[in-house]
Amino acid sequence: MKNAVSIQLIQCGKTFANGAQALQPIELAIRPGETVVLLGPSGCGKTTTLRLIAGLEFPDAGGQVLFDGEDVTGLPIEKRGVGMVFQNYALFPNMTVGENIAYGLKIRKIPAAQRLKKIDALLEMVHLQGLGQRRIDQLSGGQKQRVALARALAVEPRVLLLDEPLTALDAKLRETLRADLNQLLRTLGITTIYVTHDQSEAMALGDRVVVMERGKIAQIGTPQDIYYRPVSHFVADFIGTMNRVTGVAGGGQVRFSGGQLPYAVSAAGSQATLMFRPEDVEVVADGMGTANMHGEILSTFFLGDRTRLHVNVGAGQAVVVDTGRSASWQVGQRIALRVPEHALLHFQDEVAA
Ligand code: ATP
Repeated sequence: MKNAVSIQLIQCGKTFANGAQALQPIELAIRPGETVVLLGPSGCGKTTTLRLIAGLEFPDAGGQVLFDGEDVTGLPIEKRGVGMVFQNYALFPNMTVGENIAYGLKIRKIPAAQRLKKIDALLEMVHLQGLGQRRIDQLSGGQKQRVALARALAVEPRVLLLDEPLTALDAKLRETLRADLNQLLRTLGITTIYVTHDQSEAMALGDRVVVMERGKIAQIGTPQDIYYRPVSHFVADFIGTMNRVTGVAGGGQVRFSGGQLPYAVSAAGSQATLMFRPEDVEVVADGMGTANMHGEILSTFFLGDRTRLHVNVGAGQAVVVDTGRSASWQVGQRIALRVPEHALLHFQDEVAA
């Protein structure tokens, strides 16, 4: 796509008329052609951020929105050159697929012949060839969302904004559409902002992910940054499955009833919590001296590509362990585990005095 634009939010906060501060002043710089995913729990301010970029909301005094360095803060949506796709499709039900897609072109007085050509090209792009004459109510949810995407792209927007576009679809369809969307965004190279509360969607689609928490940005980074190098408990807990064990710090370790894990921070006698991912725990042979945690299997879940164990490591603490798919485990079985030091995360705010 020609001329992908950069987007900058400078001190953009949003307080609604009822006094609710949906967004504290945030800073966000999006590069030309980048796909940025806004991720976070319900009510954290994702949609408000998207609507500020769209021109559907305006920031509190002092906030600025720049497209390619140009101040668009006061411009309404129709002057910003953005295309939007919503969770509920927002299509015109009494029009055909083709008419929906061409709606924006008609308003812009693009001649009919040109419109038809464009509709065909867009239908092909979203894999709906030959469906131009269909009525909207004769489409599946996945097809409707493809039409909504084609309609948003028809006017060749500078920026594509997607608000939970796959949320209404079933799991299998979401995965197919996610893959298609991924490919389409790479091909188009259009600057895209995508809102979701689904972390796997965020990881799959984002060049970068913005994790939001209660109206603030908790972390901005690549999917790998967010997964392997979370900066806080909140981010660590929100992305994927994360174990946490609490014990007493001292002598380079955190000790708890089921084991002792390496802990370099000098905070002897205080409580400390360590976090680690299920896939980073190794099951080791007991008695070899390599284990740093022992426990009893509480439950087993065969997940196809792996088996997930819930293991009681004592004093009311359970951890999740992912193992290979072939091993057979019994509930009640004792198990020796090792968490390598490099897999352990700890955050200072958790070191209680
Ligand atoms: P969800 O995933 O549930 O859509 P979100 O992260 O997109 O959540 P926002 O829709 O941005 O969150 O809302 C952030 C906060 O602002 C919420 O507490 C919400 O109730 C509040 N809010 C949003 N829009 C308005 C409005 N028009 N008037 C008053 N409060 C609002």
